[in-house]
Amino acid sequence: MDLADIAQAAGLRTPIRHQLFINGRFVDAQSGETMPTLNPHDNSRIADVAMAGAADVELAVQAAEAALPKWSRMAAMDRGRILLKLADLIEGNAEELARLESLDTGHPIRDSRMLDVPRTAVTYRYFGGMADKFQGEQIPVEVGFLNYTLREPVGVVGQVVPWNFPLMFTSWKMAPALAAGNCIVLKPAEITPLSSLKIAELMAEAGMPEGVVNILPGLGTVAGQAIAEHDRISKIAFTGSTATGRRIVQASAGNLKKVQLELGGKGANIVFEDANLLAAVNGAAWAIFHNQGQACIAGSRLVLHEKIADAFLEKFIPLARSIRLGNPLDPHTEMGPLTSLQHRDRVLSYVEVARSQGGEVLSGGKAPTGDLANGCYVEPTIVRASGWRDRIAQEEVFGPFVTVLTFKDDQEALQIANSTEYGLGGGLWTNNLQRAHKFARDMKSGMVWINCYKRVNPGSPFGGSGMSGYGREMGFDAMREYTQVKSIWVNVDAQIAPHYARP
Ligand code: NAP
Ligand code: MG
Repeated sequence: MDLADIAQAAGLRTPIRHQLFINGRFVDAQSGETMPTLNPHDNSRIADVAMAGAADVELAVQAAEAALPKWSRMAAMDRGRILLKLADLIEGNAEELARLESLDTGHPIRDSRMLDVPRTAVTYRYFGGMADKFQGEQIPVEVGFLNYTLREPVGVVGQVVPWNFPLMFTSWKMAPALAAGNCIVLKPAEITPLSSLKIAELMAEAGMPEGVVNILPGLGTVAGQAIAEHDRISKIAFTGSTATGRRIVQASAGNLKKVQLELGGKGANIVFEDANLLAAVNGAAWAIFHNQGQACIAGSRLVLHEKIADAFLEKFIPLARSIRLGNPLDPHTEMGPLTSLQHRDRVLSYVEVARSQGGEVLSGGKAPTGDLANGCYVEPTIVRASGWRDRIAQEEVFGPFVTVLTFKDDQEALQIANSTEYGLGGGLWTNNLQRAHKFARDMKSGMVWINCYKRVNPGSPFGGSGMSGYGREMGFDAMREYTQVKSIWVNVDAQIAPHYARP
């Protein structure tokens, strides 16, 4: 099938963009090289996408540098207006974007429609509104002086995003950066480039000046590395694995660029004996099985009080087994494929890891057979670990794979929750107010959810500690990350005694 047939079969009305977006235009890579992007439902090829190399990164940086003076000095309200227009265009093209995202990533279409696309639109809208509300300060210094701060854009920023939420994560990165007046060179993940190219098209339609945003699909080790090393890129914002995060930090050392890292996680989701059991069961299923568990904040460790563990699992296991796996474009599908075959195999390998350390598979643990055998599917998988030190209780699996652990008392629950090198998101289910706030305070975690899980909002800071990285996306914190402070001193009517008095 050619590209037009593939688009038609997926219900798309507009052409699939498959070139680099540099200086306001879709162009081939300098080398002419391409890479395929696949549909994880059956591993069929969707499109051959231009593959950026270092030469394309250089062109994109030049375009961004040229656009920077005008964009950064434009009235903040006018920058905001373009982002607001983009948010409207995303809503106007919601179905198109949802289908494209599901085709390329395997997200169930109901999730793409209900979550990925609306969350992307609200992120651009939130930061569109923020553009002219984020301001400097006046500081009360010595009498006679006026001291104030300017919040200046960092400059040309590099952004590298992973494949698990391509549409949403590009908005988390691009919206605050643009609102603050930066220009962007962004590399989507090599296996999921399509939705960010569609956003580039909508940005142009929204009136984004040429060169402000450049989108470069390509390999992490080539285009990503070139962005991280580039000496005229002033900041790199990265979301991905902890191992790559470390490489980014090393590559950034040449010009000491600012670094922001959103890395892996191993979220503890603790259910106490006094919790509302049904709410906790539902919340725990959402925490791990949404997006096939491919979420850095997934509740991938289910930490149950031993008194309620059996009752909890009696409800949780049948719920997991009842989740409908299927073609992401089918509106009845509740769980799609993982985003690549390689990743599916990695997730399945953890079933063997679990067994080798005395873990017990309570449900799932296999790839489904039949119609779905050619895709990257994994059954919802529940495994009881033999203890918190097991690899399945420490390492990020990043799939529909939840590790069950039990505890006797609050002290043990906290010890288990804080026992990994990560510190991103975690949750707890209890009706004890004091316990809830004590855990919220004591959990080593950038985000804590009480009687809910995995809530995100453009106003609420998102990020972690430890091996989960540093810096925050969303909210005012994101605007701070994408600006630098300049302090300005004015002598209004200060009497300055001469320091070097001479007769
Ligand atoms: P990854 O392998 O680290 O890749 C992330 C991105 O980095 C991709 O675009 C990748 O390009 C690129 N990359 C690879 N090597 C690079 C290099 N040497 N220099 C510059 N860029 C490079 O991560 P992933 O497997 O795609 O994503 C899953 C991970 O992301 C998980 O660990 C997950 O927890 C984490 N994550 C964190 C958050 C958060 O907010 N904390 C959110 C979502 C996901 P390629 O596409 O070519 O590999
Ligand atoms: Mg794909």
